[in-house]
Amino acid sequence: MSPSVPENLEKVLRQVSRFEKKCGRPKRSVQLIAVSKTHPPEKIREAYQAGQRHFGENYLQEALDKIHALSDLDITWHYVGPIQSNKTRLIAENFHWVHSVDREKIAARLSDQRPSALPPLRILLQANISEESTKAGVSLRELPELATSCRGKKGIVLSGLMAIPAPNKYFEQQSKAFRRLKLARDQLQEQGFEHCRELSMGMSSDYEAAVAEGATMIRIGTDIFGPRNS
Ligand SMILES: *Cc1c(COP(=O)(O)O)cnc(C)c1O
Repeated sequence: MSPSVPENLEKVLRQVSRFEKKCGRPKRSVQLIAVSKTHPPEKIREAYQAGQRHFGENYLQEALDKIHALSDLDITWHYVGPIQSNKTRLIAENFHWVHSVDREKIAARLSDQRPSALPPLRILLQANISEESTKAGVSLRELPELATSCRGKKGIVLSGLMAIPAPNKYFEQQSKAFRRLKLARDQLQEQGFEHCRELSMGMSSDYEAAVAEGATMIRIGTDIFGPRNS
């Protein structure tokens, strides 16, 4: 029998602590986001009962069904998937964090559509750090302009950067990509984006390198919930 969600979760949390210690970072400086896409609400409930509070979803309709089914739980929901502009209202109304903002139009719509009764939506800008034209995300060259366009927009707070580097099995190559994102975050902070603190980087196959390079949020799916069927 494959290990249960609580067992997997405990194992991942143990690893994160080990990696934090190994690179001299404070305990619990990395926030674990359990990416539950394609997995049913019962699995999320199991993880919640084991103490997990932050969950990430990629597909809006699927996410909304789960948010509804789990509304009795105190979950912090992160939207990490691609954003179509006609979906921004539902994202602005239902999530706490959005990791995948990659153009001004999306930032503007999230700002306009965030209900004023809710705290500001925390947004991360998704950057393309792999220099591949096919990958989603704003280029590092265009990042400062996008960040500037978020300034002064009500309802949203530019809170950091996110990236999904091209898969690479070598630790040193993984590290190099993550280092580029950290450098971009540091430069934005120097330019006065003082809330731009988070680095959302690292998935099941590369989170050790991400933690070593300063990730503040890692997004783990497979290592917690098992393989996805789709
Ligand atoms: C699916 C997904 C993850 C989790 O990936 P795993 O390799 O299963 O850990 C993290 N981030 C994003 C944006 C994803 O789409």
